[in-house]
Amino acid sequence: MSHLMPTYSRLPVTFSHGEGAWLWDNQGNRYLDAISGIAVCNLGHTHPAVTQAVCEQAKQLVHTSNLYRIERQEQLGDALTAAAGMDKAFFCNSGTEANEAAIKLARLYGHKKGLALPTIVVMENSFHGRTMAALTATGNEKIKVGFGPMLDGFVRIPYNDRQAAQQVFADHDNIVAVLVEPVQGEGGVLPADPTWLAQLHQLCQANDALLMFDEVQTGLGRTGKLFAFQHLNFLPDVVTLAKGLGNGFPIGAMLTHGKAAEVFAPGNHGTTFGGNPLACAAGLAVIHTLKAQPEYIENATKLGNYIQAEFTKHLAGLSGVKVIRGLGLMIGIQLDRDCPELVKTALTQHQLLINVTRGDTIRLLPPLIMTQAQADQLIAGVSEIIRDFLNTNA
Ligand SMILES: *Cc1c(COP(=O)(O)O)cnc(C)c1O
Repeated sequence: MSHLMPTYSRLPVTFSHGEGAWLWDNQGNRYLDAISGIAVCNLGHTHPAVTQAVCEQAKQLVHTSNLYRIERQEQLGDALTAAAGMDKAFFCNSGTEANEAAIKLARLYGHKKGLALPTIVVMENSFHGRTMAALTATGNEKIKVGFGPMLDGFVRIPYNDRQAAQQVFADHDNIVAVLVEPVQGEGGVLPADPTWLAQLHQLCQANDALLMFDEVQTGLGRTGKLFAFQHLNFLPDVVTLAKGLGNGFPIGAMLTHGKAAEVFAPGNHGTTFGGNPLACAAGLAVIHTLKAQPEYIENATKLGNYIQAEFTKHLAGLSGVKVIRGLGLMIGIQLDRDCPELVKTALTQHQLLINVTRGDTIRLLPPLIMTQAQADQLIAGVSEIIRDFLNTNA
């Protein structure tokens, strides 16, 4: 611990094993996981299909590099593009890398049509990752402090703001892309207004810009569809994925459609590890499992609605609870004050793993396999924690 860079202030617990929605610490205590490694272990911990695929692939072939054809990568590219209705896939190792690829693709798209200073529209309150382009695109000023200068070529508008969307295209003639999360996750679980997303789609089409959805958190069943854009009746040009794609094995992807699929050529972008056989075996196991067992994604809608409705009942009359919102199994409970200490209270007093984001919003990202009995335990525990917190901090 003392030799680790202190980039995280870690909670005082070490997990030794997990199964489904349960985790055990190295003293044998059991915890209910309602954060899934931050929307990563959507199928639950150590899902047998993923574990088996990783073990078998590790015995056969781990890595060859992208200098050669990779069968598993081609299979995963086929599976993901077919499931998404997209054309092409690029594989990398994380969400920030997937967004980095999308930003580079958008800039190249602009340069190819003669724009010297391509501009990408991004949102206030957004999160896209920690590398420099993704950090520039991110709308959380706190995590940018000390890392300037940011990159040129970005313009920011408020989320869900129709007027601002219209205006930004009126004010700029060099917009090559709009990058947006269908539900802002780190920003406090804020679902986008579907009519605003449709407007962004229209504006992008009318101005020959790419609509790029950051589905790093919303993808892979989290919101009740395999991809959150499937709640809408149009396709984005670019979709970025990571978190849930390997159920814990690091893998990211960028999917492209139509004109966006024609931008990158050999030499334009690359990665040593991205899309290696082991990572793609994990991704294939995830996508096959979600396809073969539709009840997992159905549960995201069913259990997500149930959890939101139960919290609405349990927390009724508490004036400190501002709003309960979400989509599928992305759920936010916003209080009228900051409450970061609730994470530790939940862990140590209730053996519940939850998260607080934007300071005042309890974020729940349970695995898609969570049962109603487990959800009831979660709802009872979190409701009690919120009630006690609001009473003692009145
Ligand atoms: C987590 C997240 C990222 C960054 O992913 P990393 O794998 O941590 O780089 C990007 N975008 C969104 C929406 C995320 O939730």
